[in-house]
Amino acid sequence: MATFTAREMKRFGYEKPLIEKGYANQTLYVNLSDRDIAVRPVTEQMKEVFVGGKGFDLWLLWQAVRGSTRWNDPENALCIASGPLGGTPIYPGSGKSIVTSISATTGSVMDSNVGGYFGPYLKFSGFDALAIQGKSKVPAIVFIDGIEQRVHIFEAAGLPGEAHEISALLTDYFGGGEPKDISVVTTGPGARHTLIGCLNFSWYDQARSRSRLKQAGRGGVGTVFADKGIAALVVRWHTVTVSSNNPADLSALKKVARLHSRDVVEQDPKQNHMSSVGTAHLVTIMNDYDLLPVRNYRYGSHPDAAAMGEDVFRGLFDKGFDGCWIGCTLSCAHGVKDFVPVSGPYKGQKVFVDGPEYETIAGCGSNLGIFDPLFVVEMNFYCDTYGLDSISVGTGIAFAMECFETGLITTAHTGGMDLSFGNRESALALLHQMATGEGFGAVVGQGVRRMKEIFSRDYGADLAVMSDIGMEAKGLEFSEYMSKESLAQQGGYGLALKGPQHDEAWLIFLDMVHNFIPTFESKAEALHWFPLFRTWFGLCGLCKLPWNDVTPADNKETPEPAKVMKHVEWYAQYFSAVTGRKALPEDLIAMSEKVYTFQRIFSLKMGFGRRVHDTIPYRAVGPVTVDEYESRADRYDGQLKDIYNLDVEGKETREKVRILRRLREERYERLKDAVYERRGWTEDGIPTLDTVRRLGIDFPEVLEVLKAHGVA
Ligand code: SF4
Repeated sequence: MATFTAREMKRFGYEKPLIEKGYANQTLYVNLSDRDIAVRPVTEQMKEVFVGGKGFDLWLLWQAVRGSTRWNDPENALCIASGPLGGTPIYPGSGKSIVTSISATTGSVMDSNVGGYFGPYLKFSGFDALAIQGKSKVPAIVFIDGIEQRVHIFEAAGLPGEAHEISALLTDYFGGGEPKDISVVTTGPGARHTLIGCLNFSWYDQARSRSRLKQAGRGGVGTVFADKGIAALVVRWHTVTVSSNNPADLSALKKVARLHSRDVVEQDPKQNHMSSVGTAHLVTIMNDYDLLPVRNYRYGSHPDAAAMGEDVFRGLFDKGFDGCWIGCTLSCAHGVKDFVPVSGPYKGQKVFVDGPEYETIAGCGSNLGIFDPLFVVEMNFYCDTYGLDSISVGTGIAFAMECFETGLITTAHTGGMDLSFGNRESALALLHQMATGEGFGAVVGQGVRRMKEIFSRDYGADLAVMSDIGMEAKGLEFSEYMSKESLAQQGGYGLALKGPQHDEAWLIFLDMVHNFIPTFESKAEALHWFPLFRTWFGLCGLCKLPWNDVTPADNKETPEPAKVMKHVEWYAQYFSAVTGRKALPEDLIAMSEKVYTFQRIFSLKMGFGRRVHDTIPYRAVGPVTVDEYESRADRYDGQLKDIYNLDVEGKETREKVRILRRLREERYERLKDAVYERRGWTEDGIPTLDTVRRLGIDFPEVLEVLKAHGVA
C-alpha cells in the first residue's frame, strides 16, 4: 500500500473562546470548493429557539440550502454539532454528535445521532457546530486542532479504503503519541457506490489501545460526505473534566449526575443488562412479543431466534468498559475481538467488530431468514468499514429476497445469484458488491424506493405488490420493528419527520411490551410527547438510552410510567445546572416543539412534509398476503369479530385480508388526523400559523414556505 501523506492546502488560525455554560458561542464554516474557512457567531436567539445540537444543525442547514437543492449539489451542507450538555464526563450518555444534511436517500432533511468523541471535542476546540459546504476535487481531510487553535485542509494520498483502517491511521498520525486526543469521522467505499452510506465516528479505547467506531447510519449522510470529496474530518482536543463546559452551577451538576449515574449502575443489572449485552437483549423480547422482523417483516418471531439472543452475544462480546463517551455508566457499545471474516478483503484476518446492536442483528439476521450470530457479526463489520447503513442494507436485501422468492425478479436480474431467504453467501456477496458498485449489489445499494422503480421499469415487476412489501417511507428504509400489531408504532414510523427510524418515536415497547398506552387517545398523545422528548436529547448532545432503557425501581408505581418522570426531572436539573436557564420538565418539551415543528416546515421547503409523505407500506400496518394472515389467523379473526363486529364464518382468507386492510388503513388515517390536531397542524400535516406564532418560529422565511403551501 502507498504511504500516507497529507499535503496542506489551507491553514486557518482562530482564537478558542472560553466555553460558557455549555456553549462555545461560535460555529465553524468550511467550504471545500474554494477552501473558505470562517468562524461565525452563535446568537442569543439561536440558543433561545434552537437550543443547540440538532437545532443548530438545522438552522445552519436551512440557511445553506434552497428548496431546489439536491443532496449532491455543492451547496448542500453537512452539519455536525454537540449540544450545551454534550461533553459532560460524569453524566451517563453525554457525548453524542448530531449530523444533518439533505439526504442522499430521501432528498429531504436527515438527522442522525451518533456516539464517539467528535462532537464534544469539536465544542471544546471552540465550535458548537461545524457546517461544511462545497466539494473538493481531491480527497480532503479537515483537521480541527483545538490545542493549536488551527483548522487545516489537507490533500490526502495513500489512505487505506476502509473506515476502520482510516480511523486507526489518522488517530495515530494526528495524535502525536496521544491517540486519546483524536476523534475521526470517515466513511468507506460503499458510501461512494450507493445512496445508503453511513459515517463512522471514532473514539480511542485506551484499555484496548484501539480506535473504536460508532455510526451515524441513516439517510445516506456518508454518501453526502463521500460526494463532497471528504476523506476524513479529524478533531484534536485534550483534557475533559466536569468543568470543561464551565457549567452555571457545578455542585448542582455533580449532584444530579451522581443520582442518574447511580440509578443506571443499580438498575441496569436488574433490568436490561445493557452494560454487558447492549441492545442485543431486545432480540429475545421482540421475538417473545411477536415483534422481531422475520423474512422482510412478514412474521414477528422464529423458533431459531434464540440462536442470536442475549446470552449468545454476551459470550461473543469482549469484556471491558464500553462507553462511547467518557463516564457513561450504561456502557453499552460492545464489540467482538479477534473476529475472523469468512469472506471479502479481510477474509482470514483477525479484526475488531464494533457491535452488533439489535438493529443489525434483526436487519441482517432474522429479517433475511438467517439466525447465525457469526454471520451477523461479519455483516456488521463490513457494513461499518464499507461505510454502509446496516439497517438500510438489511431491509434492502430483505426486500430483494422477497421479490426473488415471489418471482418479481429472477436470477436473470440478480446476476445469477440465488436470493432465497436464508442464503448467507448471497447476502454477503451483495454487500461486497455494494462496496465496489458492481453487480446486483449496486442496485440494492440504491435503497428500497429506487429498487421498486428499477424492478418495475426495467424488469416489469408489479409496482403495486412492491409498494405493499417494500419497507420504506419517505424513501428511508424501516428500522427493525414489526409495527403491524402496534398502531402507535405505525404512527411512530409514519409520522417520523425523516422517515421510519425508531429514534424519534420508539413506541413499540410502551405499546406492546408494557401496555402503557392502550387507548387510541393515549397512542395519539404519546405520538405528540414522545418524539418531542426524544428530540430534546438531540438538541442537547445526549444519548437517549439512559432516559428509558433503564428506569428507576419505583417507575411503574408513578402516575405516568411511560415518561419515566424521575429521569425527566433529573434532565431538567441537568439542563439548568449547565446552562443556567432554569428549566422544568415541561420546558424541555417546549424547547423541542419549536425545533420539531421547524424541521417539519424545513421538509416542506424541500418538497416533502405533507400528509401524503406520512404514508407507510401496508406491510407496516397489516398482513399483505394470505400466508401472513394465516400465520396469525386467530388474532386477526378475533379482531374482526371483537373490534369490528364482523362475522368471519365462511369467509375466504383473501376476503378477510381485504376487509382487515380497509379497516386498518382507515384507523391509521384517523390516527394521523388526531396527531396532526394535537401538534397544531392542518389536516394536510402542515403546521398552522397559530402554531408557529405560539412557538416563536414565525420568521419571515418560515412564513414564506407556509404561504407557498396555502397556510397564511
Ligand atoms: S448508553 Fe451506550 S450508546 Fe449511549 S452514550 Fe452510553 S455507551 Fe454510548
